[in-house]
Amino acid sequence: MDRYQSFARSGLGRFVVGKLGLPDPHPLRRHSPGKPPLDGPVLVGGGGRLADAVRAAVKSAGLDLAPEPGGTGRGAADGERYGALVFDASGIDSVERLRELYEFFQPVIRSLGPCGRVVVFGTPPEQAGSQIAQRALEGFTRSVGKELKRGGTAQLVQVAPGAEAAIESTVRFLLSGRSAYVSGQVVRIGPADVEPPADWDRPLAGKVALVTGASRGIGAAIAEVLGRDGAAVVCLDVPAQGDELSAVANRVGGTALQLDITAPDAPARIVEHLVRRHGGVDVVVHNAGITRDRTLGRMDADRWDAVVAVNLASPERVNEALLAADAVRPNGRIVGVSSIAGVAGNVGQTNYATTKAGVIGMVDSLSRRVEGRATVNAVAPGFIETRMTAAVPLVIREAGRRMNSLSQGGLPVDVAEAIAWFAHPASAGVTGNVVRVCGQSLLGA
Ligand code: NAD
Repeated sequence: MDRYQSFARSGLGRFVVGKLGLPDPHPLRRHSPGKPPLDGPVLVGGGGRLADAVRAAVKSAGLDLAPEPGGTGRGAADGERYGALVFDASGIDSVERLRELYEFFQPVIRSLGPCGRVVVFGTPPEQAGSQIAQRALEGFTRSVGKELKRGGTAQLVQVAPGAEAAIESTVRFLLSGRSAYVSGQVVRIGPADVEPPADWDRPLAGKVALVTGASRGIGAAIAEVLGRDGAAVVCLDVPAQGDELSAVANRVGGTALQLDITAPDAPARIVEHLVRRHGGVDVVVHNAGITRDRTLGRMDADRWDAVVAVNLASPERVNEALLAADAVRPNGRIVGVSSIAGVAGNVGQTNYATTKAGVIGMVDSLSRRVEGRATVNAVAPGFIETRMTAAVPLVIREAGRRMNSLSQGGLPVDVAEAIAWFAHPASAGVTGNVVRVCGQSLLGA
């Protein structure tokens, strides 16, 4: 909890925050092994082609299905709080039928418990009976995300026809504390052959993951979460970070690879290491990144070049080398780390935002190129509590922390959990996505 958040939770703080209408950051419920994914049952409504698959995934995740309101069993009718409200809108094929959204959510939205989830399932608009109605669902979910209080989140999941059996890993991610800092997102799932893992708690058992920039911050959290999920993690960072890198590698039971990804021989050394030591790689996470901020008129060429080299040119060269050597094993995963600055732009970050928008381009082009062999996605973090953001001047830092629907910064683990969802073997239909982990930041919203 940051200092403002602790204050807002105190007796005096609650009074002041309430009176002045200040941001009220609710403590987020995060994943913890053995704890139920959500506090409370899941109410599923709507009658499209996905409702049955959603109910099956909810049950398989160990969550209770709430009976329809007005029924006799447990649910909001008894004053209980829902853990999630899920609506299958995939069958909405006219503007008139958008009223079904209102009819389902309006009576129950105030019965959603703390850190509750709203998930609307739809059809990709260009494949739908009514492109207009399906596109309209975006405005609905994004607004619900902004209205929810107390750590609630809302998302839209567009499931292509034929992809009904490919949704479980996404349902489990969104209906749990793993997606604590993800809100207002539109996710696409396409058709794919999906094998459920033998053990949902260790879905990456037997897999090899490479994480760049793994010695600290978000990269260390990614290594930890992928290791927790069973992967053998190759942790890469510059030699100057050697001690910290070894500590992370030891903690996650992985190995350390010291190299500068901008070195001319870096891609070849990475391929050599992965193929020789592990016989290939299943999950590649391009997390290493730097900032060298200056407004454009004051930016020397070194700052421009350094940021482009680390954040964009190196991931591209590493991808090409891995693909040329056929080192990415079947059902592979390539994950980029973009930023909301890459979506919205940011003062002083022409270099950085160029590279982070380029990462989105990488997702678009590479996901099509390697379709059927690997998925390609990116996270776009907002304000995440790391050394990078601790160095930001206080006033800008406070603004960055509060200017989102959850009124707080995210944690490195929030970014890592989104990456673990992409990396999941059952996420084979999740490709070409850029998912913001930003608490629904106002920047670029
Ligand atoms: P960080 O500075 O704590 O960690 C970055 C890591 O990358 C460091 O360990 C660094 O040594 C490593 N690295 C840098 N250059 C390298 C090179 N040439 N070769 C190998 N490793 C190299 O930063 P962080 O906050 O953990 O950020 C991780 C990623 O998330 C970056 O891509 C960053 O742009 C992105 N991001 C962060 C935030 C945030 O709020 N912290 C927001 C949006 C995006």
